[in-house]
Amino acid sequence: RGTSPVPPDARPRLTVLSGPSGVGKSTVVAHMRKEHPDVWLSVSATTRKPRPGEQHGVHYFFVTDEEMDKLIANGELLEWAEFAGNRYGTPRAAVLERLEKGEPVLLEIDLQGARQVRESMSDAQLVFLAPPSWDELVRRLTGRGTEPPEVIERRLEAARTELAAEPEFDVTLVNTSVEDVAGELLALMDVV
Ligand code: 5GP
Repeated sequence: RGTSPVPPDARPRLTVLSGPSGVGKSTVVAHMRKEHPDVWLSVSATTRKPRPGEQHGVHYFFVTDEEMDKLIANGELLEWAEFAGNRYGTPRAAVLERLEKGEPVLLEIDLQGARQVRESMSDAQLVFLAPPSWDELVRRLTGRGTEPPEVIERRLEAARTELAAEPEFDVTLVNTSVEDVAGELLALMDVV
């Protein structure tokens, strides 16, 4: 007995893009957003302060520590994680609403968050964004070399651990070009 093709309505509609920090997840997402403004992207809550140009409700919902405590306590987050001293979480209601309508949903979150989604949403599609090579990731993480060596060493150590998470994912996309990866991601989401 051969395997039958998966019917279209059984395809995963929740896609999670994750990967090591510095690999370029947000650049890929920004590119996708520009090309396909119709694809809905979950807006996370964060306790981090806005960077120049970031808008409340567009890039993040910027919340206080107390507001984040409440979101967590009330079970309003699908997943949340602490990253580099700040907390980040995915508002549950907006995601479920889109999924119920059968619309594709994309989350761009860190590895800890991806693992939580794996537990709570078993049909989610987990996508790992990998650097083209270790040397390339080192280049991106060390940047202009303005950080002290011990900070860089800590980030590289973290990146090594993060790269080891790849086998936990359903699909790996190698970030050779932003355009290519964005296209591959859209195809995985059944958008194009
Ligand atoms: P940044 O502060 O640079 O915008 O994001 C830092 C990290 O937090 C990135 O790896 C990003 O993917 C992750 N992140 C953003 N939103 C969420 C979220 O809602 N949940 C989790 N777990 N991670 C998030």
